[in-house]
Amino acid sequence: MEKVKVKVAVRMRPLLSKEVQLNRPVCVQALPNTAQVVLGQERTFTFDYVFGPKTKADEVYTSCVKPLVSSLLNGHNVTVFTYGKTGSGKTFTIGGGHGDSTPEGDRGIIPHVVQDIFQGIAEKYHSDFKVKASYIEIYKEKLRDLLNLETQSKNIHIREDDKGNTVLVGARENTVDTADELLGVLEAGNTARHIAATQVNETSSRSHTIFTVALTQRDSEANLTLFSKLNVVDLAGSERVAQTGNKGQLLKESAQINSGLLALGNVLRALSQPHRRGQYVPYRSSKITRLLRDSLGGNSQTLMITCISPSSSSLHETLRSLQFASCAR
Ligand code: ADP
Ligand code: MG
Repeated sequence: MEKVKVKVAVRMRPLLSKEVQLNRPVCVQALPNTAQVVLGQERTFTFDYVFGPKTKADEVYTSCVKPLVSSLLNGHNVTVFTYGKTGSGKTFTIGGGHGDSTPEGDRGIIPHVVQDIFQGIAEKYHSDFKVKASYIEIYKEKLRDLLNLETQSKNIHIREDDKGNTVLVGARENTVDTADELLGVLEAGNTARHIAATQVNETSSRSHTIFTVALTQRDSEANLTLFSKLNVVDLAGSERVAQTGNKGQLLKESAQINSGLLALGNVLRALSQPHRRGQYVPYRSSKITRLLRDSLGGNSQTLMITCISPSSSSLHETLRSLQFASCAR
């Protein structure tokens, strides 16, 4: 097994006004030119990319996500996910917010990706493209179709075809012809996420969402058909159960959510240690890792963006997030 490079970025958001009001000091510093983060006085972590609080989404996109869109257009599967505690900036970074009023220059990853995919398609004029999008949420290990909330979870299945591709059976896949249509799919899914969360009085921070763009390209000159897909994943909040003060039902919920994150951590760790020969990669242990199986490892490219708050009120969660991120590299 070849060493699979999972690239890891850390993005530190600015202090929010409520954190400024708390008047707690900042406990972590980003050193962008060295791609290092310093926590407290002396704990230093090194990653592939580090973005400080002044970095806008455009720059995050251009430096670490844009190259992956080229890979996608060249036929590779790509996964980008955001990890971090609730409130650290995952959804903001992804661009998965509901009713987005984000200023220009700070649009999240998905809108940028969508634009670049269609630009890339326009440039590859000797290929015919088909673009399909799906948008799924995993909540308590159950799948929810954000493009059709009527679909019952038990009717959505994760399968594998004979080529090893993950196939989602029973969930809607919308075929789109333009960037605007694809953004429409995103927006519809974000609204559905918001509605579904409101109905059961949960916050969306407890679920994972996966926005998938699947490309089929037929190059008539080379007589070649390529399939590839890009998954943009907004993971559930990584905070500890004890800290959220959950009891009973909520506690069970947190345990299940953490099992998805735990499984993902185990898969990433296994992929980053190929020297352990014959090492078993535990994809099957959760829905999220089963769903991403063909897009983590192998020829696919993976980027994890770990989101952190600079406030010392988040010190422990920030430490855990940086440790999780270090294990993935
Ligand atoms: P999460 O999805 O991790 O729970 P959010 O993306 O919802 O966190 O972000 C929490 C809050 O912080 C939101 O109000 C969001 O607008 C703000 N925020 C997050 N990242 C940034 C950033 N880089 N710049 C400015 N505001 C941000
Ligand atoms: Mg969020």
